[in-house]
Amino acid sequence: MNATYDVVIIGGGISGMMAAITLVGCGKKVAVVSKGDPVCCFSTGCVDVLADGENPLKGIGSLPEHHPYHLVGDKGIAEALGLFRGIMSAEGIPYVGDVHANRRVLTSLGRSKVTCLVPETMDFSDIDPHESLHILSFHKMKDFYPQYITSRYAKAAYSTFDAGVTTTVGIAERFEDSDFLDTFTTWMRGLAIQEERIAVPAVLGRGSSGAVYHRIGGECGRTVFEIPTLPPSMPGLRLFGGLKNAFLRRKGDLYWGRGIYSVEKLGNQIEAVTLTGPGRSTRVEGKAFILATGSFVSGGLQASRDAVMETVFNLPSYLPPGTRDAWFQDDFFAVGHEIEKAGIRVDASFRPLGTEIENLYVCGSILAFSEVMKYRCGHGMAIATGVAAAKACMGAYSGI
Ligand SMILES: Cc1cc2nc3c(=O)[nH]c(=O)nc-3n(C[C@H](O)[C@H](O)[C@H](O)COP(=O)(O)OP(=O)(O)OC[C@H]3O[C@@H](n4cnc5c(N)ncnc54)[C@H](O)[C@@H]3O)c2cc1C
Repeated sequence: MNATYDVVIIGGGISGMMAAITLVGCGKKVAVVSKGDPVCCFSTGCVDVLADGENPLKGIGSLPEHHPYHLVGDKGIAEALGLFRGIMSAEGIPYVGDVHANRRVLTSLGRSKVTCLVPETMDFSDIDPHESLHILSFHKMKDFYPQYITSRYAKAAYSTFDAGVTTTVGIAERFEDSDFLDTFTTWMRGLAIQEERIAVPAVLGRGSSGAVYHRIGGECGRTVFEIPTLPPSMPGLRLFGGLKNAFLRRKGDLYWGRGIYSVEKLGNQIEAVTLTGPGRSTRVEGKAFILATGSFVSGGLQASRDAVMETVFNLPSYLPPGTRDAWFQDDFFAVGHEIEKAGIRVDASFRPLGTEIENLYVCGSILAFSEVMKYRCGHGMAIATGVAAAKACMGAYSGI
């Protein structure tokens, strides 16, 4: 099988999907090739932009000079986040928040996490320790212990509902059934909850989370919010599902579960990639390519004893100076391990440095110096650089 596109995007994480949606939105014929589910499926679903300080956009100016955010700029970042919100809203998973203000969400460990944009189901999650809170938990639910929260909040209590299943995804799927939702709300009303706010682990449905959330809030007459759980995370899965649906709705082609078997080049151009997978091989031609394969966790980068490799095009990767000992700090949980700087360096048009290839662009957490954990800028940087790389690709490469 042979297919031809304007742009082929390799990697279906947030950066790749945002690049893809930007391009199809401009009438381009686009394919996304991805070998597996992206990191956002394990995430809280909240969009961290830059977690230090009150105003994430203001903080960008003080990031080190090579940080990829500087290639996008404040205005570009705000626009990309606006585009993201529009897409998610149209998919029925609205995000709330202000790109100029960080906020806090309560986590399942009873601590707060600083983030920027959150799904509407977490809008009321910034709770004062003195406020009263009632947690609606689930019998034997895996990896969710309301006691972690009640031990930190003086006026918190919890009740437990038996959903008949114990996994996050299993309970979320049960909420898609209206009979189950009726039974749950009847049980909840019977509790005659007195606390000011109600929190529920993030299991309020898969695709219908908005409707389930509003129904529960309406029935109990209280402010309700979801608490992001440990992976697998429903808000993360909803986020990914929303972007995937938005792309497919705009007639993009998705090659899911497919890696790259080989790359064809002619002169300074990449012409095509052949995909791994069962049966006949699939050859995908493109006028331009965007690499969005993520960092180590997704396999976009691979480390050996003394080198870091980019796994699709074998692009030159930045590696922190010194021996491998210098890659990590002694304290595993410390922020700012040097290895986080590893990745692909790009020019102002998101083209990789140190290669002759002309029709290749790079975005997302594979970019050198992004230091996602240190700056807590994960999804925000993926969104901003994904949109910017797509625009650079359309603007700079005349073949599209
Ligand atoms: C556990 C965890 C929790 C996090 N939580 C948050 C959070 O709550 N909020 C936040 O803002 N950030 C969070 N982050 C950071 C954030 O998830 C990432 O930085 C961001 O989503 C990365 O997006 P990406 O598109 O660059 O890459 P990825 O999400 O890594 O996607 C890369 C994609 O490329 C595919 N791929 C890789 N190699 C190939 C290949 N050879 N061929 C085809 N496809 C390939 C992968 O299968 C994957 O689908 C978290 C990170 C981790 C690890």
